[in-house]
Amino acid sequence: MKVYSELKGRTAVITGGSKGIGTAISERFGKENMNVVVNYHSDAKGAEEAVALIEKNGGKGVAIQADVSSEEGVQQLVDAAIDNFGGFDIWINNAGMENRHETHELPLKDWQRVIDVNLTGVFLGTKAALDYFVKNDKRGNIINMSSVHEQIPWPTFAHYAASKGGVKLFTETVAMEYAARNIRVNNIGPGAINTPINAEKFADPEQLATTTSMVPMQRIGDPEEVASVAAWLASDESSYVTGITLFVDGGMTLYPAFQGGRG
Ligand code: NAD
Repeated sequence: MKVYSELKGRTAVITGGSKGIGTAISERFGKENMNVVVNYHSDAKGAEEAVALIEKNGGKGVAIQADVSSEEGVQQLVDAAIDNFGGFDIWINNAGMENRHETHELPLKDWQRVIDVNLTGVFLGTKAALDYFVKNDKRGNIINMSSVHEQIPWPTFAHYAASKGGVKLFTETVAMEYAARNIRVNNIGPGAINTPINAEKFADPEQLATTTSMVPMQRIGDPEEVASVAAWLASDESSYVTGITLFVDGGMTLYPAFQGGRG
């Protein structure tokens, strides 16, 4: 594992850090000897475990409850970073949710909640981070957890796909708007990653095989493989990179049905 020495002592805010990809990034940032504000929504125990992983690996952490779809909640994360670590350098909008419905039966409240968390939450987190970076005349770094479904349509998950498609153009727009101020904004687009959001699906051998067949590398990914990309985007090694989605998907966005030269 590469450790980016310049990250030592820098502070990151990670939303939805109580499990899955958010916990893996927290652990990795602990290994980078960083300070991390680990946001959670309802799983306090998971967030405390993430903090323990950060501290075991040489970083510092604090767990903060907040709903990313609320402006007050996001402000609490800004305040926690300032109170505990004197500010922040990196903001990661990772929190997300999904549920399956055929679109003609998709309840408005489910549509609204997914958009509120996955898209409005990214907007609110980004807005708060930009405001802090601009007012403190700091160069800044924002990383949004998008999905392969910012590009690949996903029947029965229309609200999820709409939210991630929104994140794509939101990120590109904000990256352009703030590039001259040295604030970088990028997306990570995970494919099929082994986290609690997929636990039920991957526990069923048939569904696991179906998913794996959509991945040219023919395996699902580990959250640590997303965390290592987050560390690179957070580091100065990616200093000229802004406005992209970096897919971490074993090739899922490459039309795997054509693998083998069929078609
Ligand atoms: P997960 O369900 O394991 O974790 C999601 C986290 O978001 C949880 O900690 C949850 O509590 C938190 N969260 C949900 N609503 C929240 C809210 N209102 N406020 C604060 N936190 C909230 O999922 P994961 O797989 O770790 O997903 C992380 C991100 O990666 C999500 O944005 C997801 O859409 C994206 N993603 C995941 C995969 C995958 O295969 N796992 C693929 C593509 C994209």
